[in-house]
Amino acid sequence: MKKIIIANFKMNPLTKKKAQELFKAYDIKTKHTVVLCPPFPFLEKGKNYILGAQNCFCRTEGPYTGAVSSKMLKDVGCKYILIGHSERRHIFGETNRIVNHKIKLCIKNKVKPVLCVGENAGEKRDVVLKKQLKEGLKDAQTKGIIIAYEPVFAIGTGKVCEIKDIINSFNLIKKIVPDAKVLYGGSVNSLNAKEILKVTDGILVGGASINKKEFLKIIK
Ligand code: PEP
Repeated sequence: MKKIIIANFKMNPLTKKKAQELFKAYDIKTKHTVVLCPPFPFLEKGKNYILGAQNCFCRTEGPYTGAVSSKMLKDVGCKYILIGHSERRHIFGETNRIVNHKIKLCIKNKVKPVLCVGENAGEKRDVVLKKQLKEGLKDAQTKGIIIAYEPVFAIGTGKVCEIKDIINSFNLIKKIVPDAKVLYGGSVNSLNAKEILKVTDGILVGGASINKKEFLKIIK
């Protein structure tokens, strides 16, 4: 079945040339919808993949030095934008309120937001997810929205979430946001991707997306 596979390159690779090598390798026909989210300076459209961005600012234009808006990203070809990634929340201090502004602006500017949610180790998953979804999606149109469940302890650690927990989170998110497509992210690789794709609408891949061999195995 056709799934959504999103690659989050994070702050990699270091040169445009290397980014272009990845674009070239991943620009292949596959049964899945493949979305590549490189760093801003390397955004480049392809024939077979969809372009996405890793973040945007919570205003559309104005005196916000260093900021990039969803409208600009739409103009250069981005169709999806990751919003509220745990690294944005924890390193850059993004709150659910900021996330909510960004979500609504993406929708207004006609780019699809991919809302990232997930609990830290030791936190109650249901409580955290309910709060992040309620506050992050307050007054937002949820039709066609994508939500990525990314437990923080699984991101970049190699500790993938257990399938039963992925299924429980998927069901909880669908119950709260029935219109959403729900993805899983957190240490996805070529060995676990197929099993996870069976129980979700897709996956968000970080580290493995900048490893050509790995990501090609995942999307093929
Ligand atoms: C991510 O950054 O969204 C992510 C899931 O990272 P990784 O696949 O490296 O755990």
